[in-house]
Order: sequence, then structure tokens, then C-alpha cells
Amino acid sequence: MSQRRHTAYITIDSERCKGCGLCIFFCPQKVIGQAERFNQKGYTPATVIEEKAGECTGCTACALMCPDIAIGVYRHAKVAP
Ligand code: SF4
Ligand code: SF4
Repeated sequence: MSQRRHTAYITIDSERCKGCGLCIFFCPQKVIGQAERFNQKGYTPATVIEEKAGECTGCTACALMCPDIAIGVYRHAKVAP
């Protein structure tokens, strides 16, 4: 059984997000989707799809694509085998 050695996750600042969808398009793991609510500027922001969150590899493609610097990427070693 293969074990992932590292886990990663992202944060999205929904108030910075303009809902352009670039991060959604470029995430190779399809971790990100569009929220079903509006932010204070009237955009539907990007959001992490809960069931897919564990598949984030920390590749940073989403953060590099984001024109509004709304995404943070975090990686950490997995403690359990
Ligand atoms: S870091 Fe990579 S895998 Fe993770 S959400 Fe962003 S684009 Fe997807
Ligand atoms: S790329 Fe940035 S601004 Fe565009 S939807 Fe994703 S988080 Fe929002």
C-alpha cells in the first residue's frame, strides 16, 4: 500500500478572491471549486472542495496562478507512517 510522505493544504482568502477561476482550472488534483455564496465584493470565491482536500500535493500551481495573491500553500511532514 502506498503512503503519501507529505501532506499539504491551501488557504483561500475569500475576500481577496475575484472568482476568476484560474486556480480551479490549473489545479491538477481538482481540489478547488467555486463557492455557492458571494463575498463582500459580490464575487463567488474559490473554495477547497472538502472531499478532495486530502489530495492537495502542495504543488503551488494555484497560488502562482492567482492574480490576487489570495492563496497560501502549506506543506508539512506526515508524522504517522
Ligand atoms: S497546491 Fe497544487 S494540488 Fe494543492 S490545491 Fe493548489 S494547485 Fe491544487
Ligand atoms: S485564482 Fe485567485 S482570484 Fe482567481 S478564483 Fe482562484 S483564488 Fe480567486
